Amino acid sequence: MPHAFSIYFNSITRSDLNKITVKSPGTVANLVCGFDILGMALNEPYDIMHLKLLNEPIVVIINKDDFNLPTEPEKNVAGVVLLSIIERMNHKTGFEVVIEKHIKPGSGIGSSAASAAGAAVAANHLLGGIFSRDEVVQFAMNGEKLASGVKHADNIAPCILGGVSLIRSIHPLDIVAIPSPDLFVTVVHPQIEVRTSDARQILKKQVLLKDAIRQWGNIAGLVTGFLKNDYELIGRSLEDVIIEPVRSILIPGFDEIKRKCKDAGALGGGISGSGPSVFMLSVSETIAKATETVMKEVYDRLGIENNTYVTTINKKGVEII
Ligand code: ADP
Repeated sequence: MPHAFSIYFNSITRSDLNKITVKSPGTVANLVCGFDILGMALNEPYDIMHLKLLNEPIVVIINKDDFNLPTEPEKNVAGVVLLSIIERMNHKTGFEVVIEKHIKPGSGIGSSAASAAGAAVAANHLLGGIFSRDEVVQFAMNGEKLASGVKHADNIAPCILGGVSLIRSIHPLDIVAIPSPDLFVTVVHPQIEVRTSDARQILKKQVLLKDAIRQWGNIAGLVTGFLKNDYELIGRSLEDVIIEPVRSILIPGFDEIKRKCKDAGALGGGISGSGPSVFMLSVSETIAKATETVMKEVYDRLGIENNTYVTTINKKGVEII
């Protein structure tokens, strides 16, 4: 039986359109205790991408922003994704992609994933929805391999599906969409550089059993909290005893921000992706804004330029507009 995702896409025939515009959301991966396995989509920031089918098996990339990202398809995550789709189509088609990027590359809010996922979803639409949900995710993961050296899906899956995603396994791919609560998300991006490779390298290779048990409890608690809309359980479970104590060293002001945001009423939060962005979840916009004020105060005092977003969990994922 075809997957619901492909039934939906199959309703668009190839002759219906040869160009499409999509909105591709930012994402928070490594959701606190859910390192490498839980991610969430945001309503802001997002990228806009315009894709067009070409008759030749080539990829043309046009960047409409100031980030100076590569236009060679092999060096741009969107290009790599589209090249892998062209290969699967036996070189019978090609794509032009115009990228309006608003998610700053290297921010830790899934900038590369937005380009990769947006390209994969838009290309699939243009081809009449011939690929299943998991195939689209697999194509998009080729882009993450270029950006970070590893094929991971904790940004890609929520970017495509919206809401919170559990990546139960990569080999074989096993993605579970988790109903997400109506929470507010505050994100601060301090303008410092944290290299993904450094953030990975400093991690310990082994964990203590007592820490692993605590982490399992938190992951189960967080997922159950999302399913039951139990905000107190979510707050108690937003604790990471394995990754955060090591990685937070790379983010100035992290402990102070976390403590003061919780004092301001936030449920809790942590490092977004591999940093440097930090996010917090709140039950109301008022608390989310108070959290933003705290974040700004800390970084302004430390003399670190910063961008903030007060937004909500995006439930749609990549969207045709
Ligand atoms: P983020 O967590 O914000 O996605 P990453 O460090 O994972 O940041 O990815 C950004 C890296 O990917 C940068 O080195 C950037 O040059 C590279 N890159 C290549 N193409 C793109 C693209 N289309 N969008 C974003 N980053 C890209």
